[in-house]
Amino acid sequence: MPATHEVSNQPPPLRDFNRFLANPPLRAALAREGAPWADEELIARGVELGSGEWIERGETANRNRPRLRLFDRFGHRLDRFDFDPAWHACLDWLKRQCLAGAAWHDARTGAAVRRAALFQLFAEVECGSLCPATMSHSAVPLLALSPALADPWLRLLQAPVHDGRDLPIAQKSGLLIGMGLTEKQGGSDLRANTTRAVPAGDGWYALTGHKWFFSVPNSDAHLVTAQAADGLSCFFLPRFLPDGRRNAVRIQRTKDKLGDHANASAEVEFDAALAWPIGGEGRGIATIIEMANHTRLDCASGSAGIMHGVFSEALHHARHRHAFGKPLIEQPLMAAVLADLALECAGHSALCLRAAATVDHPGDGGERLLKRLLTPLAKYWICKRTPTVVAETMEVLGGNGYIEEGPIARPFRQSPLNSIWEGAGNVMCLDLLRVLAREPHAREVLISELERPLGIHPAHDRQVARIKDQLRREPVEAQARWLAEELAVALEASCLLRTPGVLAEAFCNSREAARGQCLGAVAAPALAAGEVLRAVGAG
Ligand SMILES: Cc1cc2nc3c(=O)[nH]c(=O)nc-3n(C[C@H](O)[C@H](O)[C@H](O)COP(=O)(O)OP(=O)(O)OC[C@H]3O[C@@H](n4cnc5c(N)ncnc54)[C@H](O)[C@@H]3O)c2cc1C
Repeated sequence: MPATHEVSNQPPPLRDFNRFLANPPLRAALAREGAPWADEELIARGVELGSGEWIERGETANRNRPRLRLFDRFGHRLDRFDFDPAWHACLDWLKRQCLAGAAWHDARTGAAVRRAALFQLFAEVECGSLCPATMSHSAVPLLALSPALADPWLRLLQAPVHDGRDLPIAQKSGLLIGMGLTEKQGGSDLRANTTRAVPAGDGWYALTGHKWFFSVPNSDAHLVTAQAADGLSCFFLPRFLPDGRRNAVRIQRTKDKLGDHANASAEVEFDAALAWPIGGEGRGIATIIEMANHTRLDCASGSAGIMHGVFSEALHHARHRHAFGKPLIEQPLMAAVLADLALECAGHSALCLRAAATVDHPGDGGERLLKRLLTPLAKYWICKRTPTVVAETMEVLGGNGYIEEGPIARPFRQSPLNSIWEGAGNVMCLDLLRVLAREPHAREVLISELERPLGIHPAHDRQVARIKDQLRREPVEAQARWLAEELAVALEASCLLRTPGVLAEAFCNSREAARGQCLGAVAAPALAAGEVLRAVGAG
C-alpha cells in the first residue's frame, strides 16, 4: 500500500537529559545561596530525573489514580487508598533524598537550599507525591515540641525510608504525616472549625467532627485542628492506636480533583478518634502556622519546578519545530516569548532559594524575620504565576500542547493548586501585611535585602526607591496584592543581580520596560531575547 504521508517536523520527545544542567539559573542560585557543595549531587539527580524512566514513572503515577478501599471483602473497614507502585517509587526517592523528613538532621550550611533545589527538580517530574513529602518534612519541628512523640514517631519520621504499608507504627520503618485543617464551613478562617476535642484520659483527646479536605489519608498520622475547652488547638491524630487498632477516622468519599491525580484527597469524619495534643490548648493556629511556614515555601519551590519543567519542553519544541522556513526559536516573536519565560523561571528559582537560605540560619534574627516575609511573598507570587506560565508554554507547542499525551496537560491541571492550598493568594498577602504590622524591623530587613545589589542596575535602584517610599506609608489591605507583587519582583531582581550577567540585566530591563500583560509583550530592546536564551543554554 502506498504511504499516505511521511511524519516530519515533529520534535523528538524530550528525555534522557540532565534536568539540573538544563537550568543554569537554578545552578547559579544554588551556589549563590550557600550550597555550592551540593552541585555534584544535583548534577547526578538531574541525570536521574531527566531519564525516560522517571518521566514515564511520573506519568504512570498520575494515569493510575489511587483507588479507594473502604472495606475488605469481609466487611471490615479499611479506609485507605491503594496507590500505584509508581507513587511509592516517587516517595521512596523523596525519602531517600531527605526531602520528606530527614533533612533536619543535615547540619551543613546550605542544607535547606540543597533541599529546595532538589524539590524544584522533582516537581518537574511529579507533584502529587510532593504533598506528603512537604507535610512530613514540615511536621518534624511540631513533633519535636512533644516529648511523648519523640520515639518512635519522630525518629521514624526522620528516617530516610519510605514504608507505604498500612500497618501500626510498631511494624513500620518509615512514616508519612498529613495535615487536616479545612472543614466545610471554612479553610482560611480556621477559627470556624467545629470539630470538637474532649479529654479522653492518659493525656489523649477524643475528636468528633469532620475534615472537608484530607490528603493522603493513608498517612501514618495527621496534624489536625479542633476546638478544645480553651479554644482551637493542634492535635496529632495517628492512623493506628498504640494497641494496634485502627483509629476512628472514616473516609466519606474521594475528592474528584481537576489534577493532582497521583495523590488521593478525601473527605473524612472523626468518630471520637483519639489524638495527642501539641503546642497547648488554645494555641492551634500559632502551632500549625509553624508547619505551614515550611509547607508554603515548598509550594513555591514546587511551582517554580513546574514552570521550569514546561519551559524546558517549550524550548525543546521551539528548537526542533520549523515554521515559515526556520526553527520557531529563530522567529523573533517566539524568541521574545521564550526569553520572557526564561526570565520568569530564573527569577522564581532565585527567590525560592533565597527564601530557603533563611532556614539555614535559624540563629540569625534578621534571617528569621526575612523568612517570615519571604515565605508568603514567594508562595503568593510564584504560585500565582504558574498557570499563566504553563498556559503560555502550552501555546508554544501549538496543538500538541493541548493534547493529553503531550507533556503540558498534566502540569497545566496541577498548576493552580499550590496557590490554593496551604493558604490561598489573598491569605498570603494578608499574612505579609500582618508581619509588616507586627514586626518593627520588618521594613528594615526587607529594604536591606533589596539593597544588597544597590548601584549595579539603575532600574533596580529606581524600583527600590519606589518601594521604600511605599513602605513608609501604612499598607492598605485592598492593595496588598499590588504591594506583594512589587516586592516579589524586586526581590527576584535583587537575587539575580548578586550574580551579575545577561539574565540579571535583562530581568531588570524587561521588568521596568513598557510591557503588556502577556508574556513576551515587552519592548524588544529591553528583552535581548537571543542573549537571554543563550544564557539559559539554548544558544
Ligand atoms: C486538592 C486539594 C487538596 C487539599 N488537601 C488538604 C489537606 O490535606 N488538608 C487540609 O487541611 N486542607 C486541604 N485542602 C484545602 C485547602 O487548604 C483549602 O481549600 C484552602 O486553604 C482554602 O480554604 P477554603 O477552600 O475553605 O476557601 P475559603 O477559606 O473560603 O477561601 C476562599 C477564597 O477567599 C479568600 N479569602 C479568605 N479570607 C479572605 C480575606 N480575609 N480577605 C480576602 N480574601 C480572603 C481566599 O484567599 C480564597 O481565595 C486541599 C485543597 C485542595 C484543592
